Amino acid sequence: PPLYMQRYQFVIDYVKTYRPKKVIDFGCAECCLLKKLKFHRNGIQLLVGVDINSVVLLKRMHTLAPLISDYLQPSDGPLTIELYQGSVTEREPCTRGFDLVTCVELIEHLELVEVASFSEVVFGYMSPGAVIVSTPNAEFNPLLPGLRGFRNYDHKFEWTRAEFQTWAHKVCRDYGYSVHFTGVGEAVGHWREVGFCTQIAVFQRNFHDTMSNAKRLEPSVYRLMYRVVY
Ligand code: SAM
Repeated sequence: PPLYMQRYQFVIDYVKTYRPKKVIDFGCAECCLLKKLKFHRNGIQLLVGVDINSVVLLKRMHTLAPLISDYLQPSDGPLTIELYQGSVTEREPCTRGFDLVTCVELIEHLELVEVASFSEVVFGYMSPGAVIVSTPNAEFNPLLPGLRGFRNYDHKFEWTRAEFQTWAHKVCRDYGYSVHFTGVGEAVGHWREVGFCTQIAVFQRNFHDTMSNAKRLEPSVYRLMYRVVY
């Protein structure tokens, strides 16, 4: 399967194992991952997508509407899906108390100063039970044919494994998380040494949660674009 599918599958497998009830996908773009999570619900009750770009959100958000088959399938209770236009660098009260936050190929689109606010907002303010962050592994780039510079014109940086891990370990120290590193897309033979094409950090909060059962706060910073309950 193509790399982006492997990234989505990684999140789906995580959800299957850990069964988070409330999930936010940051940088959800055309809602591909959300649509897959809606299909592989595994007990998810609240599914939120956030992207800074409302144009890209508007393109495909109606594909999240319920299908006849969603009503025919035995469901595990109501599912709410919400899409917001907003930035992961802003504190938004309605994003607190979640079990899982996913950031698939998002951080490399932020300036480094914004990565610092991202860390503070996601780990410090939202403080979800778990966070999955994926980003390109720069050490893999020499294996990509014809690539000069970054993998995408909009990337502000691409990190080596050491750079990614340094950032992740600081986040753990600052906000009380543990992390393990993995990835998707492996080279063959001795090239395996360069690591995965996409590197992934899975963070787990160390302290017990006090917010997940609290009443959810109203959105006050993000702009609601779409909401469906079924
Ligand atoms: N996660 C999707 C995937 O894997 O298919 C899309 C990743 S796309 C490469 C990066 C997305 O992040 C874009 O849709 C972009 O608009 C969004 N983005 C960039 N900066 C953002 C920010 N500060 N807050 C929220 N989303 C942002």
